[in-house]
Amino acid sequence: MRPTLLNPLFTAAKTLHGVGAKIAPLLDRLVGRDARTIDLVFHLPTGVIDRRSRPKIAEAQRDQVVTLEVRVVNHQPPGQSRSGKAPFKVLVEDETGDVTLIFFHNSPAWIAKSLPVGATRWISGRLDQWDGHLQMVHPDRVMTAEEVATMPAVEPIYGLTEGLFPRVLSRIVADALARVPVLPEWLDENRVILRGWPAFHEAIARLHGPQTPVDVEATSPAHQRLAYDELLASQLALASVRGRLRQADGRRTLGTGVLAGQLEAILPFRLTDGQAQALAEIRADLAAPERMLRLLQGDVGSGKTVVALLAMVTSVEAGRQAALMVPTEILARQHFERLAALGAQVGIRVTLVTGRDKPKEREAKLAALAAGETQIVVGTHALFTDPIAFRDLGLVVVDEQHRFGVNQRLALAEKGTAADMLVMTATPIPRTLVMTVFGDMDVSILREKPAGRQPITTVLVNAERLEDVVAGLARAIRDGARVYWVCPLVTESEFVDLVAAEDRYRALREAFGDAVRLVHGQMKPAEKDAAMADFAAGRAQILVATTVIEVGVDVPEASIIVIEHAERFGLAQLHQLRGRVGRGQAKSSCVLVYKGPLGETSEARLRVMRDTEDGFVIAEEDLRLRGEGELIGTRQSGLPTYRVARLDAHGSLLAAAREEAAAIFAADPHLQSERGERLRTLLYLFERDAAVRLLSAG
Ligand code: ADP
Ligand code: MG
Repeated sequence: MRPTLLNPLFTAAKTLHGVGAKIAPLLDRLVGRDARTIDLVFHLPTGVIDRRSRPKIAEAQRDQVVTLEVRVVNHQPPGQSRSGKAPFKVLVEDETGDVTLIFFHNSPAWIAKSLPVGATRWISGRLDQWDGHLQMVHPDRVMTAEEVATMPAVEPIYGLTEGLFPRVLSRIVADALARVPVLPEWLDENRVILRGWPAFHEAIARLHGPQTPVDVEATSPAHQRLAYDELLASQLALASVRGRLRQADGRRTLGTGVLAGQLEAILPFRLTDGQAQALAEIRADLAAPERMLRLLQGDVGSGKTVVALLAMVTSVEAGRQAALMVPTEILARQHFERLAALGAQVGIRVTLVTGRDKPKEREAKLAALAAGETQIVVGTHALFTDPIAFRDLGLVVVDEQHRFGVNQRLALAEKGTAADMLVMTATPIPRTLVMTVFGDMDVSILREKPAGRQPITTVLVNAERLEDVVAGLARAIRDGARVYWVCPLVTESEFVDLVAAEDRYRALREAFGDAVRLVHGQMKPAEKDAAMADFAAGRAQILVATTVIEVGVDVPEASIIVIEHAERFGLAQLHQLRGRVGRGQAKSSCVLVYKGPLGETSEARLRVMRDTEDGFVIAEEDLRLRGEGELIGTRQSGLPTYRVARLDAHGSLLAAAREEAAAIFAADPHLQSERGERLRTLLYLFERDAAVRLLSAG
């Protein structure tokens, strides 16, 4: 249970002062979820406006924000005859010079009241020079002497969302801050003293109420402290998973090589050197008495599936079972069909378990697994949400892990059996990041794609030329090509998106008749299967799809993919989608249809797609174009989401947090000591609660 001390932070943001029916949805959009107080507490400033400089006018720097004490000399309303666009000017002065204040929108009444002629006022804003004369366009602040006394000299700037104004957000954040309790110190006292770090609540207060611009920078003690808190929480969570996974003793799983040999002979290709090597590494792990925890990394289309298959067969040879877990039903079915067909030829029984099995069916399948009659099971998350009894599960393979959330991975770890684990990913994550996500996993990498692959030609086409695309398709279709046509799911209303996909489907059907099928997430499972099957078998040549086809789908005959609104997709996603083609012998192409005009970054991103097929280069460019924060933050990447830590700036803290988490875990594995109790508070604060459950379960 969450410590009650933290409850005020986890109340809905609606309970904050000034958040009504109008503001609440804006906050939700701002933080990307149903906003709670904690989300505003962690909505840290992105920079500051420094209003500390209070010079005399003659000494004031141009192009800088200054705060000036002035006397109002006169008002110059816009002339009657002028156009309505003319500004209202107010001349102000001190004993060293004068400045013209320029107002475009403010009402004359407001100006008369705020800046009465002859009065002394404080104004703050950016000063510039125009035509040899000093002016300030729209001062940020116009204040009396009393008001300037309470003005924050260094004002935090927050990320905003349309409709949410800075002052409104500042007031809400202030109320959120008022609810931050004083929490028991969970960090090691020596570390805190040595680094000169403030306490948690002080750090939060300092970041939102900076005294100098340096305070909000990533290197400030306050920011470092919070980053370390977060990194420690996430490392503790990982340590708990790791501990759980390693806890169960492994077993030796020694294959005979007989079935695998037969299968390799049936395959229409030979393993690449990379595949053979990865397989050898996996088999060595399986044969060792320790439990295997291995990551198989390989770009889309590099051929991870067959490695997994042969690894599973090794487990079967040893008299054990194997499970393959995938993120979507389409993928589960595809893998199942392949494996079942291959398995049948060598006498291995494969079954499919998904969320849509009828109770009777499911019961029978589970009984066969429990009895050991079925040796390999393929399934979606339904595989591990409900308890499945195996006779003897030897190996669990998780495909396309980036689609599984941390909680699902934890659930898997919680199964606590001695099964070896192989995790497969196409996300090119650097080794150091792998460590932060998975702990000490061993890694096998498929560096090259199977030989004979032709490069994919990628072209960018403005949506205005969609007709040309369709005409081009007509030619390709006549030559027997198979085509994916991807419509994005991106608007807030899924319904609108589906309508878009359905409209496209109808339009293409008009042009190409019965050669067109549609598949999307909302369809009935049987209809989905039928559409996929028709496309895979060549009974249909065009598959209109939402991004449900993004991961793993493998129809080697498909050689063209058209992606509509390509500018709306992330690079990683485009790369995954494009990876659906270029899998067979035919020359493939990818048509990225965008809606112009494109912004500079969007254009650069699409150009990256056009210029390279290398997943690693794409990931790096993505990083460069979006900034590390976003990539690390995205769920797509499967990496942990940090709210305050930034790996570019706080990387060195990560290593320290890792070390400390390991030490804590070794000394107090269930967090039962006094400090352990406090660390639990930390875990709840950063919402690593699942780890607390694991730790408590012992
Ligand atoms: P991914 O790594 O993206 O999961 P897949 O395992 O789906 O890739 O493999 C992509 C395609 O390459 C499949 O059609 C598969 O049959 C084929 N393939 C795998 N290994 C080889 C190989 N050694 N030679 C030729 N084709 C291969
Ligand atoms: Mg795959």
